[in-house]
Amino acid sequence: MSLSSAREGGGDEVADIVTTTPDLRQSVARARGHGASIGFVPTMGYLHDGHQSLIRAADHHCDFVVVSIYVNPTQFGAGEDLDAYPRDLDGDAAKATDAGADLIFAPDTAEMYPSGRPGVETWVEVHGLTDNLCGQFRPGHFRGVTTIVSRLFLKVQPDVAFFGRKDFQQLAVIRQMVRDLDFPVQVEGVPTVREPDGLAMSSRNAYLARRQRAQATALVTALRAASAAWHDGERHASRLLGAAREIFDDAPLVDPEYIELVNPDTLEPLTGVLADGPVLMAVAAHVGTARLIDNARIDVEPSSPFGPGGVG
Ligand code: AMP
Repeated sequence: MSLSSAREGGGDEVADIVTTTPDLRQSVARARGHGASIGFVPTMGYLHDGHQSLIRAADHHCDFVVVSIYVNPTQFGAGEDLDAYPRDLDGDAAKATDAGADLIFAPDTAEMYPSGRPGVETWVEVHGLTDNLCGQFRPGHFRGVTTIVSRLFLKVQPDVAFFGRKDFQQLAVIRQMVRDLDFPVQVEGVPTVREPDGLAMSSRNAYLARRQRAQATALVTALRAASAAWHDGERHASRLLGAAREIFDDAPLVDPEYIELVNPDTLEPLTGVLADGPVLMAVAAHVGTARLIDNARIDVEPSSPFGPGGVG
């Protein structure tokens, strides 16, 4: 049950948008004063159904839902798409409200990095889990993520925070940070939402031209190929990876960056002959200017929330 006056009023009203920490704290304190539990969904905006499923999960579990919209410069590397990253605050406010948001926090960089020099002041950094997969190809990325998420946690002070399993390594890193720093926040992972053809939803899909978009399904098709091989009894890591890699032969516009098998709990690489699981396959690829990622448990039923979806 939401305490939102906006949504209780119905009609076209959108959730309140605040841009400063005092205004955020005042709204959250008011909700807490009514006994509300606080759910939090951090995003970089340009919301799609994947973000909305996080907001719905927050609305289901919590009384008052805060969604942040902030494109965080410190998690982008040199030459990455910080300036091009799509932005649409009005559209986001409508979509967030529709999914159950009560309050939108849309700070600017002066608010989030008051020194005016993002990245020069205090960092929060998780080691180990950030060494492989995306961490290997995006140096400093997770340091930017953990720094901004801890700043947001301290501002919002949520009871529960919701993150997508599409960014699997990010979820693992946030869980580690919360454990290590003893943040009083429960972290929930939400299954990946896909387009009808299986492509994982992403704000970066907006970069794809028509032919690139058609071939971008290679990421999920690769996960499905490995999952099918697993369910046919294949247990050699190299052959499971081979089944996935083959898919990219038919998608010349998709340039794979990595395909790896890891233990989903530790993110340690799995090699040789695998035991019965759990086994996560993670993939990243460049398609034109977009860098896309996807992952799935290949040892579970494809249609399970953690699998790569149906074989369609
Ligand atoms: P972003 O705006 O890309 O930083 O993502 C904000 C949150 O939405 C993160 O926790 C993402 O993992 C999550 N998310 C992004 N895409 C999806 C998706 N297709 N399904 C589920 N969650 C997603």
